[in-house]
Amino acid sequence: MKNISVIGAGQMGNGIAHVFAQGGYRVTLIDIAQDRLDKAVATIGKNMDRQVAKGALSEEQKQAALANIATSTDLAAGVKAADLVVEAATENVDLKLKIFRDMDANAPKGCILATNTSSISITRIAAATQRPADVIGMHFMNPVPVMKLVEVIRGYNTTDAVTKAIMDLSTAIGKVPVEVNDYAGFVSNRILMPMINEAIETLFQGVGGVAEIDTVMKLGMAHPMGPLQLADFIGLDTCLAILRVLHEGFGNPKYAPCPLLVQMVTAGKLGVKSGEGFYQYNAGSKDLVVAPAFAK
Ligand code: NAD
Repeated sequence: MKNISVIGAGQMGNGIAHVFAQGGYRVTLIDIAQDRLDKAVATIGKNMDRQVAKGALSEEQKQAALANIATSTDLAAGVKAADLVVEAATENVDLKLKIFRDMDANAPKGCILATNTSSISITRIAAATQRPADVIGMHFMNPVPVMKLVEVIRGYNTTDAVTKAIMDLSTAIGKVPVEVNDYAGFVSNRILMPMINEAIETLFQGVGGVAEIDTVMKLGMAHPMGPLQLADFIGLDTCLAILRVLHEGFGNPKYAPCPLLVQMVTAGKLGVKSGEGFYQYNAGSKDLVVAPAFAK
């Protein structure tokens, strides 16, 4: 594999482009607007500066990695020479099905089509293409340059060869791949999202405040980050989308999203990416500041 295209230049897409470019692969990063691509490349540069400051990367390695990244707003052109495409666009089934139809129509034969979806069935996405055997889940964790895990999800038709290629590629870029099967939420979000939803429900019922809930989980359960802060970090819109996939996929009311989560997303409070969720991220403070709606 030499050429890797990444579709979606949001928080995950820029991280995925970062690790592949650093691993020596030629990356084409694709999004719907050039300003999003410019912002993503600037973020990658800043994150690499941090690695340089820590001594994890030399200035020359940083320049070489950045030179490996091209951008495009044209999906068809951007996947034409790809050996692998990793889709990391917004968590929305209809959008992903459309992108996979477009990828299938334009990527060369033999190109592996991977998705970074957090929850949507790989088998369902694969069925939108003429090459379901070459479709696979490659689920990176946030922030991609830091987190070691890649959850590799086999769809119903994914071949052993494609699975091995993605497991090997993950190892080659310094990650630890774990192979799992294709049910809603896979392993990671099947376990994580009900916990986050329960933390929001606990807040909704007034059992504890934002800081109290997160402190209980950090100090009591040795979680490095409380579930409400983690939800802000993932994006509340993404958390809601994942819970809806679990709810629909299993038909079990235990996955129903908390009404408070639904309302926050409707109000545009999406967490870090919108500047406010359970905490405020534009208050100019280094400390975590609870959002006004939840301040006592
Ligand atoms: P995000 O909102 O930060 O970014 C999504 C990007 O997709 C945006 O830049 C948007 O412009 C772009 N996009 C939308 N439609 C597009 C199209 N038609 N073509 C190209 N680009 C398009 O979201 P994110 O947090 O980066 O999540 C992306 C994917 O990664 C989702 O499937 C999500 O579930 C998954 N994921 C997220 C996390 C997380 O912690 N946020 C972790 C693992 C996986």
